[in-house]
Amino acid sequence: MNSCHSVLEKPARQAPILPANVHLVTVVSKELVTPLMLRVKFACANVAPFIGGEMHVRLLLPQRGRYPVWPEAGENGSLKWPKGEDEILLRAYTIRAVDEARGELWIDFLQHTACGVATPGADFARDVGVGEQVALLGPGSGHLPQSRSIFFVGDETALPAIARIAAEVPAGTRMSGVIEVFDETEEQPLPTRGLLNVEWLHRRKYQAGEKRVLINAARKLVAAADNTTFIWVACEKNDVRELRATLKKREHRPEDMYVAWYWSR
Ligand SMILES: Cc1cc2nc3c(=O)[nH]c(=O)nc-3n(C[C@H](O)[C@H](O)[C@H](O)COP(=O)(O)OP(=O)(O)OC[C@H]3O[C@@H](n4cnc5c(N)ncnc54)[C@H](O)[C@@H]3O)c2cc1C
Repeated sequence: MNSCHSVLEKPARQAPILPANVHLVTVVSKELVTPLMLRVKFACANVAPFIGGEMHVRLLLPQRGRYPVWPEAGENGSLKWPKGEDEILLRAYTIRAVDEARGELWIDFLQHTACGVATPGADFARDVGVGEQVALLGPGSGHLPQSRSIFFVGDETALPAIARIAAEVPAGTRMSGVIEVFDETEEQPLPTRGLLNVEWLHRRKYQAGEKRVLINAARKLVAAADNTTFIWVACEKNDVRELRATLKKREHRPEDMYVAWYWSR
């Protein structure tokens, strides 16, 4: 066997059995939800693990132009990851919706622009074609909050999760939040059986050099939230650190919050 296989040439070895939490999925369609938010729908043989529980996955991105070599099951439930030229990049994403009837998973990919820097996750969504396969690891982390009252703080990367929570909460759940997006064209309708009130912030309108707008707005609102409200926060790393400190100071119970950074500058 020639171990040095060329671009997208399938290596002549038996396909390994995938670990139970690695799911091969096939792109069935792509559509722009907003100018910067690209939805990719994937067909998945078994969507059951993605229903009702944890919301997040790791997208497994093989090196460009390489035939994918997916991780194999190792000892004691661990994963054996391919190395060297077959090394895989991981990026975290949210399952925005599960279409049980069609056997599909939706992921919304923000097309963020990092000047002169590759953005493999965003680029994958932009470049992938219908019929192509990729693998997802998970689901893991990010349960639906059980509270009857939820306060959201997030940016575009959090919007898929906020939208999914809003769509799945029981009728009567009271929700409010502050969400930062590029401009009004990035706002999305957030259908829910609960009651949801969102303050949208538009980054495009900030003064040159104006910073901390999301975090300042969020800190005021968090301070006013009562102790039984579930506080859900996901945005940039430094902003998250500040909000975490605010929440710690007011002794908000850890079980009543989800505070996670979704990207870093
Ligand atoms: C649990 C979890 C769930 C997530 N769910 C989603 C989701 O559903 N949809 C989604 O789009 N993202 C989501 N994210 C965020 C996403 O994983 C990050 O934005 C990630 O950095 C994108 O990878 P990339 O390869 O495109 O860019 P990277 O290679 O990670 O970063 C390249 C450059 O882009 C910059 N960058 C990264 N993200 C942003 C951003 N949002 N705005 C400006 N610059 C940025 C980085 O600072 C870096 O300079 C989630 C993150 C987590 C942890």
